[in-house]
Amino acid sequence: MNRRNLLKSAALLPFLPASDGLITPASAVRKRSIRFAYLGDTHITPDSKPMESVAKCFHHAQNHADKPAFILHGGDVIMDALAKDRDDVQKQWDAWNGIVKANNSLPIEYCIGNHDIWGFENAKSEPMYGKKWAVDQMKISGRYRSFDKNGWHFIILDSVQPKPDGKWYTGYIDPEQMDWLKADLAKTGSKTPILVMSHIPIFSPTGFFSETNVKEGNWTIPAALVLSNTPELIKLFYQYPNVKAALSGHMHLLDRVDYNGVTYLCNGAVSGNWWKSDVYQQTKAGYALIDLYDDGSIERTYLSYM
Ligand SMILES: [Zn+2]
Repeated sequence: MNRRNLLKSAALLPFLPASDGLITPASAVRKRSIRFAYLGDTHITPDSKPMESVAKCFHHAQNHADKPAFILHGGDVIMDALAKDRDDVQKQWDAWNGIVKANNSLPIEYCIGNHDIWGFENAKSEPMYGKKWAVDQMKISGRYRSFDKNGWHFIILDSVQPKPDGKWYTGYIDPEQMDWLKADLAKTGSKTPILVMSHIPIFSPTGFFSETNVKEGNWTIPAALVLSNTPELIKLFYQYPNVKAALSGHMHLLDRVDYNGVTYLCNGAVSGNWWKSDVYQQTKAGYALIDLYDDGSIERTYLSYM
């Protein structure tokens, strides 16, 4: 079609309202900055189903002609450490390390999930108690951190805060980490697009998936499903228009929310229904390919690896 015909056919298009600022059209000349694979909620155990399935998922993620540059693990690497004894937790980490060694050649960046935290009551005096064991296994510099890749700034948050009794947890960004986050955002160049990762979602409608969250006719969504300081985070992100994406796992469900220019993506689970079946609610077991572009846009493709 030549330019004249193009203009003619454009004139025949229905009236399009001017941009209201809610939708940012993708730039026609954008260039991809990086592609990575998001794998989360792998919940590995030494049993054959999780071992074979996670191996399959790693191969699927690495066998694309357009290969991801690295893997971002959104947390819940192992089935559960929270209330388990040392031997049990060690077996789970050994299973994970064995699978990675045999089936993966990509670098992995990790985010801590609730099931990665060792909260066994009798282990309180152990040096590896709490998040230390996970930080050690994941070979990360600390429970939260940030780094740069191909023009994007990645902020990995620690969204899981065990309750004092050590038996359960809740979701929020603690004051020390919030101060660090504010400083990290402030020192990142205003033209550098930012991706935030938290295991528990910052902003996700998946909290509405269960009838059990309705009590006496009211929604009562626990902070263990959506962070209790989400309002503060939304206000903070609003001050930084270069915060473009916020990824989460935890819910084992797939969603997308676009709010104030931030794309919030909850990214399903490799384990589906914690290996009990390949689908949880309406979301199939899977992982995502994430493409980040130099104009700050993001695209996600969720894939079944079965
Ligand atoms: Zn999980």
